[in-house]
Amino acid sequence: MPRNTGPADRMILAVALVILAAVSAMGAFSLVAAERIDASAGRRWTDLVGESLQRRASDLQRDLASFAHWDESVLRTAFFLDAPWVHRNFGKWLHDTRHHDRAYIVMGDRVTYAAIDGEMVAARTAPFAAAAIMPIVRGVESAYASEAAQAAAQESRSGEETRPNIAPVFRAGYATVDGVPALVGAISITPDLGRVVSPTRTPPIAVTVEFLDGDFLRDLIAELHLGDPAVSHERPGEDRLAVPIPFSDPAERPAWLSWLPEKAGATLLRALLPSLIGTAVLLLAASVIVLWFARRATADLAESEALASRLAFVDPLSGLANRAMFLRTLAARLPRTGGTSRLAVLFVDLDGFKDINDTLGHQFGDLLLSEVGSRLQHLASVDGLAARFGGDEFVLLLPIGPDKAELEQLCTNILEVLRQPFSIGAHTIVIGGSVGAVVAPDHSSSADELIRLADIAVYRAKAEGRATFRVFEPSMEAELRRRREVELELASALDRGEITAYFQPQMAIDGEMVIGCEALARWQHPRRGMIPPWEFISIAEQSGLITRLDMYVLRQACLAARDWGGIKLGVNLSAVDFLSHDLVRNIAAILEETGFEPSRLEVEITETLLVGNQPEAFTILSALREMNVRIALDDFGSGYSSLGYIRRFRIDSLKIDRSFIQNIGVTDDAPAIIDCVVRLARALGVTVTAEGVETRAQLRYLASVGCHHAQGYLFGTPMRREDFEQYLSQRLPRREYGEFRAASK
Ligand code: C2E
Ligand code: CA
Ligand code: CA
Repeated sequence: MPRNTGPADRMILAVALVILAAVSAMGAFSLVAAERIDASAGRRWTDLVGESLQRRASDLQRDLASFAHWDESVLRTAFFLDAPWVHRNFGKWLHDTRHHDRAYIVMGDRVTYAAIDGEMVAARTAPFAAAAIMPIVRGVESAYASEAAQAAAQESRSGEETRPNIAPVFRAGYATVDGVPALVGAISITPDLGRVVSPTRTPPIAVTVEFLDGDFLRDLIAELHLGDPAVSHERPGEDRLAVPIPFSDPAERPAWLSWLPEKAGATLLRALLPSLIGTAVLLLAASVIVLWFARRATADLAESEALASRLAFVDPLSGLANRAMFLRTLAARLPRTGGTSRLAVLFVDLDGFKDINDTLGHQFGDLLLSEVGSRLQHLASVDGLAARFGGDEFVLLLPIGPDKAELEQLCTNILEVLRQPFSIGAHTIVIGGSVGAVVAPDHSSSADELIRLADIAVYRAKAEGRATFRVFEPSMEAELRRRREVELELASALDRGEITAYFQPQMAIDGEMVIGCEALARWQHPRRGMIPPWEFISIAEQSGLITRLDMYVLRQACLAARDWGGIKLGVNLSAVDFLSHDLVRNIAAILEETGFEPSRLEVEITETLLVGNQPEAFTILSALREMNVRIALDDFGSGYSSLGYIRRFRIDSLKIDRSFIQNIGVTDDAPAIIDCVVRLARALGVTVTAEGVETRAQLRYLASVGCHHAQGYLFGTPMRREDFEQYLSQRLPRREYGEFRAASK
């Protein structure tokens, strides 16, 4: 089955993409945010480190000033050099407390004191990076000179002889010393309290060099907590943050202080990652579940849609087309009819299906209908269509030519197919059907109208007896209207006493002696006149009125026949009556009330009641026999003709269907069958009555095979009570007639 899930699949795909996009956007946003955080942190850090480098340069002043701004220092450097003292208070002291790498005292062009790594060395031979240091020293000297000049000018203006007190001049800067970037600081050594005279022109300069390595970097770690700081002349890689060393001389070979950035964003990301992944997984899982359900729902929907559209056109029980499908097909084919191309619409109604359904159960009924369906399907072959309209109504659509005989042949074929016995479960049953036919465009060219007319034709066929077909004729319509009215009027007819029991005599096989009678319902309609039983009995069965009607006839017949000597009274019971739990009680009450002798009563039942050995029917029949009521099997031969039932249900008498009697002398098998049935019945001790005896020849034959009783127009039609009493008075044996006359007076 092709699934119509195109748009649904596209929708699901769209939702999946949206969810995927959301998850990746979430990831991307986190990454971008982390990067932003890192970038701004990086900027902040480079600023901080840059400031720190500047501060370190100016902080040198403090370290140096404590030594350089001191009378003692001026004395011991400018006037004579007390090298051990200078070493103790300057070179060694700065190395030990401040980690300065080198210290010098410069006097003009000479280095008078030098300490390398805290060790005093010979000043003349000591390594001294003059190119890097001297520009700073010269800077201090010239600044000092101009300050000294200013002080001297002030002194001469004021005329006082005061000692000019010049504050130490300090200069610091970054430079490359022996190929290594370093911080170089220089300060003029000047007195603080003025107990010594300031050197006039060129003061001694204290110089210190701090390489940007080892201790310097350790200090940075201690101060700023930089990760893995390093100084190099190569530009560091992308993974490190760096600031250029702010060399005093711009021509200096550039160098950078770099460190590993503390990636705040990345750290955050790393911290967030598990929950991010968890959320994404949850989101994805949730969406997968939702999508899965959505997919299944759409698949289910598509499936049920397909099923619905199939159900919309197929009858589930039989697998045939349904009414809607049939109408569509018929409407589609109608425009192509005309001339020699005609369409036959054949309505098929099963005979006695309702009885089978009622007595054998719906499951059995369903199996039967499906079997009937497959037989009709076979008949429809390729160019026709078989449909079920519900219940036991089937319809065939078949193309036919202009020949009238073709339609009749079709109908006969259908009847023949339905007449074949059905084997369902343990049962083999014969059912048969009625067919009503219409032809397009002869009768109508409208699909609805054709169906309506075919329905009328099949109703007509049913009414006229079992296993026949009728082609629609316009006069049938009037009859249908009548049927509808009958349905409506039947209930009130019972109330108004329009239903009367008629009586038909039953004779001994000599044709002379009346042995009984059969009560047959007649409806004397005030306007329509006499309505025959075939027209209202089936309607009464369908509308549930039949039991009321049967009890009504029984009461009337018992009342009438009470005084008719010892003759028996046959009364018909419908299979539907046996569905009522009160049947036995009702019959007993009527017998009691009318004072009718139970042993004279013979209820006539049909074989459909017995099919399937219905336990309820068996119980009811047993109860009736307990009451001494006799049981006759009506219309024997028209249905299942099973002698097994006769024995099992202990039937008292058989009534051979009139179709057999009427075929005596017409077909070869009818007499043979009658002969056989009578023989078997006699062997079982069952009384045999022949129905529908119309001729002496029939009677003679029936007598010759040993039939017990006969009933038929030959002896009398069903007649009104008074007429039957008249009839009786002429035929009863003298003794009984006498009793009868006495009683009726
Ligand atoms: P059935 O029980 O087989 O009744 C016999 C039918 O055969 C009667 O038709 C009777 O008029 C007809 N008949 C009798 N002799 C001849 C004959 O020589 N030739 C022909 N061609 N027909 C003959 P009726 O009265 O029209 O009844 C038809 C059916 O209606 C009955 O068939 C019976 O099944 C049903 N029926 C009649 N009255 C009642 C009733 O009170 N209750 C029930 N449940 N069914 C009834
Ligand atoms: Ca009967
Ligand atoms: Ca009968």
